[in-house]
Amino acid sequence: MNYYVAVFIPIRRSFGATSVLNYYHWRCQSEVIKTFIIHMKTIIDEHYRSLLNDITKLTEVDGYSQWRRKEYIYLSTLVKKRLRISQTSEDCSKAKKLACNLISDRQSCGYGCRLHHLVNCMVIAFATKRILILDNPQNWGFTSGGFTKLFFPLSNTCTSLNRNETVLPWPGNESVQVVNLSLPITAPNGPNRKRRPYPTPFNSLVLPKDLSRRLNVLHGDPAVWWIGQFVNYLIRPQMSTIAIFEDYEFNFEFTKPIVGVHIRRTDKISSFHRLEEYMYYVEEYYKLQELNGEVIYRKIYLATDDPTLFKEAYDKYPEYEILGEADLSETGSIKTRELDDSIMSINIDIYFLSRCDYLVCTFSSHVCRLAYEIMNGLELKDASAQFTSLDDAYYFNDQIRGLNVAVLPHKANRPQEMDLKVGDEIEVVENQLNGYSKGIHLKTNKSLLYPTFKVTQKIEVMSFDSYSGIKI
Ligand code: GDP
Repeated sequence: MNYYVAVFIPIRRSFGATSVLNYYHWRCQSEVIKTFIIHMKTIIDEHYRSLLNDITKLTEVDGYSQWRRKEYIYLSTLVKKRLRISQTSEDCSKAKKLACNLISDRQSCGYGCRLHHLVNCMVIAFATKRILILDNPQNWGFTSGGFTKLFFPLSNTCTSLNRNETVLPWPGNESVQVVNLSLPITAPNGPNRKRRPYPTPFNSLVLPKDLSRRLNVLHGDPAVWWIGQFVNYLIRPQMSTIAIFEDYEFNFEFTKPIVGVHIRRTDKISSFHRLEEYMYYVEEYYKLQELNGEVIYRKIYLATDDPTLFKEAYDKYPEYEILGEADLSETGSIKTRELDDSIMSINIDIYFLSRCDYLVCTFSSHVCRLAYEIMNGLELKDASAQFTSLDDAYYFNDQIRGLNVAVLPHKANRPQEMDLKVGDEIEVVENQLNGYSKGIHLKTNKSLLYPTFKVTQKIEVMSFDSYSGIKI
């Protein structure tokens, strides 16, 4: 017995002692590694901010600021005029029209989703030289007073269909007077999640051929600038709407710098992110601003469909000033007056988000993408890098396909990956948000993975009417 004890105990002891030692050694090591990684990350973040700071300064001293300003003013004035002319008709009864139908249940397509469908209709109307008519403007599911209660009509001369006009559903034909484009019943969803069989040949993320070279030189994301022009045309606010925005602006004391944070919750559980994840990027933005020695008063504009987030934000971030107008009347059977408040509330949020200096949100949300589009369509500077999306890369909802083009070569490291040569084109299936995207290599037709940083978005061009003779 003693023998066994004598042998057994030392073995156990030695085994136990080794494992305890190993454990502490491992813990120490992992603590050391953890501290080291945190330290490395801090240094990398600092380097990153320093690089960004240099790049920002470069644009200030490269001697082209004046030129850029002029070019923005020229191009946005030109496109605004083209859009206005495209929506003007001398004889509405004879004009070719595209009727855009936004009726759907609110659950499957909210305000942002409908507005995006309207943008897509407008791109198609512009491309096919038809006047865009908002079919059923009194009944688009939101304001009791219809679209024009908030925004100017889409056209000054032609806003409705006549009973005797022939209507065909999309694609109709060239000679039919009215083509009707209804909201897809199941809205195509997500960032390139699957190839979308949306039945129009017009990809909204394209550039007009005659302006593409200039826009590519001028803007970091020219296709978003282009979409931004359409969005801003469609939601030209009425004087009464402007008065409400100004009222809020005054009451909020909306001053810059300010970061817009859009947090989508309630029914969108698939893209849940904690408040801290958003605030990390807000902090990064302010740290970058403070690199030049200035101490900046920290402010965010918080837009959300979950009003409880305001309390959480006040409690966790007392050093921040938090502005925002929470939507309190989202679900349930909403009475007419409440419906108006709700549409106003989301419009106020989109308006202020788009006026912020930086945006932190999830591009899976229409609301967030709309704010980004408006921001880029508005600014006289390039706002294409003024955002962080916690999930998807930018995409336009009714976009037929997204193309990536390789800017760096790649050798597949495993069977699931593809080889890439510079210039190879890939149709995007999905961004896996782990550094890799999945896509169909257009030469091999195989669906495989590739590192997202080795590609860039390919922007396609299309011929639109240039309405020659426009004077700027
Ligand atoms: P998505 O579902 O986020 O892609 O965007 P949709 O526009 O299709 O639907 C979102 C709906 O949630 C909108 O119609 C709004 O009613 C509501 N919503 C989402 N975000 C906000 C917000 O920041 N403010 C307000 N007021 N409402 C929001």
